[in-house]
Amino acid sequence: MSRLEGKVALVTGAASGIGEETVRHFTASGAFVVAADVQDELGQQVVQSIGSEKLTYHHCDVRDEKQVEATVNYTLEKHGKLDVLFSNAGIIGPLTSIIELDLDGFDDTIATNVRGVAATFKHAARAMVARGTRGSLICTASVSASLGGTGPHAYSVSKHALVGLVRTACSELGAHGIRVNCVSPYGVATPLSCRAYSLRPEEVEANSAAAANLKGVTLKARHVAEAALFLASDESEYVSGHNLVVDGGFTVVAHSNSAGELVKEG
Ligand code: NAD
Repeated sequence: MSRLEGKVALVTGAASGIGEETVRHFTASGAFVVAADVQDELGQQVVQSIGSEKLTYHHCDVRDEKQVEATVNYTLEKHGKLDVLFSNAGIIGPLTSIIELDLDGFDDTIATNVRGVAATFKHAARAMVARGTRGSLICTASVSASLGGTGPHAYSVSKHALVGLVRTACSELGAHGIRVNCVSPYGVATPLSCRAYSLRPEEVEANSAAAANLKGVTLKARHVAEAALFLASDESEYVSGHNLVVDGGFTVVAHSNSAGELVKEG
């Protein structure tokens, strides 16, 4: 039996990168999927390239609550329910130093990465509670939710906030049988990471590999999609409030090497 057979999923930030890969995984796992993004042409191309009758595209700017509500309503009208939300849309925001902080860019980053996810949680949870659906809400945080210095300031703040949002939403929605979790990737080569640092995909991957704890594997969008698929499926039936890091151990080991040297020397 396919892992998401009969389930209805909504994915934001679905036109590119991790979202696109997750749409491919969810569709291949039997789900009815609504792919939502602001890049309509790209989103339609993704849908056409997958070529499944179970998959449709819908425009949604997560900064606009009315568009979020309309996208959830579209999903309900088309499929009758909503089982899984993968709230993945995000931006990297400005790369300025804290003493030259671009506060307009800060607000934009929070509006997309935090307020946008909160709006999707609100309307998806509302739909689930009203229908008695034991659903799964998932968002994309980052290693920048656990460690300072791994991303721009506003971005790190936004991703830390998502872990808080997951926990507080989990605390309320457990009574309704709704699970709330996030996935937290380390550096993946996507348009977001390539554009932010003006790097080619192979350069992003080489940089990640050089700093990674786990050697011999290159982190790809599919690794994150597989983690999201686990959290979407009934295989994670008792997992809620969890930050599932997909980082090869990056956030739990020292990067100074001092401990490693002690082990080697000892
Ligand atoms: P990406 O740029 O390939 O995809 C992000 C998608 O979000 C794009 O299609 C974009 O159009 C969409 N989007 C942006 N603003 C939106 C809005 N207001 N409303 C709707 N859609 C919007 O980047 P990605 O790397 O796949 O990023 C996906 C998520 O993963 C983001 O939340 C990002 O912060 C997170 N993440 C990425 C990495 C990485 O290294 N690539 C690491 C950790 C976390």
